[in-house]
Amino acid sequence: AKETGKARAVVYSPSLAGPPQHDISLEAAMFQAVREGEFQLYYQPIVDAQTREIQGFETLMRWKHPTLGMVPPARFIPIAETNGLINLLGAWALKAACVQLKQFEEVAKRSLYISVNISPRQFRNDKFLDVLDDAIAFSGLLGEQLVLEITEGTLMIDPVHAESILSKMAERKARIAIDDFGTGYSSLAYLKRFPISVLKIDRTFIRDLPGSQKDGAICNAVLDLAKHLNLSVVAEGVETEEQLQYLEQRGCQYIQGYLTGKPMAANVALAALKESIHV
Ligand code: C2E
Ligand code: CA
Ligand code: CA
Ligand code: CA
Repeated sequence: AKETGKARAVVYSPSLAGPPQHDISLEAAMFQAVREGEFQLYYQPIVDAQTREIQGFETLMRWKHPTLGMVPPARFIPIAETNGLINLLGAWALKAACVQLKQFEEVAKRSLYISVNISPRQFRNDKFLDVLDDAIAFSGLLGEQLVLEITEGTLMIDPVHAESILSKMAERKARIAIDDFGTGYSSLAYLKRFPISVLKIDRTFIRDLPGSQKDGAICNAVLDLAKHLNLSVVAEGVETEEQLQYLEQRGCQYIQGYLTGKPMAANVALAALKESIHV
């Protein structure tokens, strides 16, 4: 059915027959950007809903192009996923984030964790477990300080392969988070089948809280499910005090969003951690 859809797009809408011109130049610029070191990592705090203390950070990639300015990941990640550059970028991000966490911990004087997005193509790559082992060994982190964020779709492409990779991650004590939970096409059966530790409630279910009854019901159901399955929950995209209160009162343990911290450069995150030490 997908094939037919594509063919139709070619017939009825020639502009969709190939990538837009802009994306071809963007793709060329990406290879240049890798050589020039234009990619950076930003870090967004994940905080305890009750104490608001930083528990960890999600690593978010940024591309600062000299003339285009900030290119959002929503533009460049899909291109990297298509041409395979994501394997190189993702390996770099994983290792650099693990190393960065060590510095965060030195300043914070306590244990923290780092969460890293793993794209479907990276997850399926033969070298992925080597990349993971290298990042852990090189940084000296404990496996348990690493959370790998994957989507429901990543698990569903090839569940048998996913099961074997996830069990190998579990051997290394790295935890698995389901990103954008509830937005993918999948069944809840995978929560039983795969060793998952964290559910990240997608921002679209948080945005209209506390006003929306439907979103409230969905969040409550996810929190209930997580409690009974012994999973942690991170609410994504929390922007208001009311949203945080609502979630906290219903037992959501972790919060991530503009309210408690935007994605920030490493030096800004370091300053935030320094400030949080009470001497
Ligand atoms: P994601 O993994 O769901 O990341 C969360 C996105 O929500 C981030 O967008 C973050 O900046 C944004 N966000 C966080 N809090 C709030 C909030 O309170 N309000 C709003 N409106 N937005 C919030 P970002 O950084 O633009 O990244 C977009 C997506 O790009 C990510 O979605 C992820 O799928 C992908 N991505 C980013 N970095 C990487 C990476 O290193 N590797 C891979 N594979 N994907 C990445
Ligand atoms: Ca994520
Ligand atoms: Ca997400
Ligand atoms: Ca998302």
